[in-house]
Amino acid sequence: MSTPDENTPRENDEPTGTPPRSFLMIWFRCCNAYGRLTKTPDGTQYKGRCPKCRREAQARVGEGGSNRRMFEAE
Ligand SMILES: [Zn+2]
Repeated sequence: MSTPDENTPRENDEPTGTPPRSFLMIWFRCCNAYGRLTKTPDGTQYKGRCPKCRREAQARVGEGGSNRRMFEAE
């Protein structure tokens, strides 16, 4: 005998084809605003833009023991 087990509803599953992305919070001093950097496809650095002035910012991954999650852009 088998009982239909619906423990994992498919509608709540994450859509396939969207790889998990790493994010990094960054503080933009230019506008006093928080922004977000996303990891580049090659995984060597993070890139993002200031949400207000669209200024580009970037940070390298794993350089100098960067365990900190908060970065600052001047
Ligand atoms: Zn800005």
